[in-house]
Amino acid sequence: MAKILDGRVIAAEIQREVAADVAALRELGIQPGLTVILAGDDPASPLYVRNKMRMCETLGIRSETITPPPDVTTEELLAIVERLNADDNVDGILIQLPMFKQIDSKRVLMAVDPAKDVDGIHPVNAGNLATQRPGLVSCTPAGIIEILKRSGVTIAGARAVVVGRSDIVGKPVALLLLHEHATVTLCHSRTRDLAAITRQADILVAALGKPESITGDYIKPGAVVIDVGTSRVPDASAPKGMRWAGDVHFPSASAVAGAITPVPGGVGPLTIIMLMVNTVKASRLRRAAARNK
Ligand code: NAP
Repeated sequence: MAKILDGRVIAAEIQREVAADVAALRELGIQPGLTVILAGDDPASPLYVRNKMRMCETLGIRSETITPPPDVTTEELLAIVERLNADDNVDGILIQLPMFKQIDSKRVLMAVDPAKDVDGIHPVNAGNLATQRPGLVSCTPAGIIEILKRSGVTIAGARAVVVGRSDIVGKPVALLLLHEHATVTLCHSRTRDLAAITRQADILVAALGKPESITGDYIKPGAVVIDVGTSRVPDASAPKGMRWAGDVHFPSASAVAGAITPVPGGVGPLTIIMLMVNTVKASRLRRAAARNK
């Protein structure tokens, strides 16, 4: 039976470090600030945003949520982003996705000052990551590396397979693993014989958004399995008839893997805490850049 990599325990450890960092900034008269723009109607989004705000409150990070009306236009959102870009009290700007259908979300995301892009999705930050320059890295991929390192998993020289090539998870996690000297294969929906490739992985990251599709026969015995997927699936035995599921079929995978993250309680808690880490980092980097001007 695989060892469970408990994301809540690892996130709590990082939370203590961030709290110390925020306290140190306070001594200098600085309070990092995060603003979230919630301009969408996905029913799960308000809960995600609330969890982020609650964590800010716990850590003493100034937080604000802007919720424009459902008929907001792209131009109006661009004006909000411009105002936040210019506001010295705002260190991080997070645009909660998905946005309302009428919004040109790419334009809005591109308008965020890269120095305040705590989601690490602006092309400037994506380029910094690709070329190993300092910048802000997407929260979920950064959290996955924290799970691996803090669990004592050897990344250098390992064969890592990432399933999913999104800009927000698959590509950045593949780059981070590469920078940690893993030999990385990136798979997607056109990959032929996926299981033959995933079975070679010492470290397998599943981020394809297909609940419970990675079963035990996709996994090399003893491998470390990181399950990024978060989907709600019907389950008659669960309260309200629904439960959370990862992209990995936990019962069969945990019988083969050496270590595995659960869903919930694996990658998810890391995503929130890495957003806090990025907000504090953005605060420091922006002030250092202003001093060097
Ligand atoms: P996404 O943008 O939909 O990307 C999914 C990727 O998986 C695509 O690259 C797609 O390939 C690939 N794919 C789809 N079906 C496949 C298949 N059958 N075989 C191989 N590859 C396949 O999703 P995402 O935003 O990266 O998110 C992935 C999952 O992680 C979702 O369940 C999401 O909810 C979850 N997530 C969780 C957290 C967290 O904090 N825990 C954070 C972010 C995302 P193509 O490119 O060829 O279409």
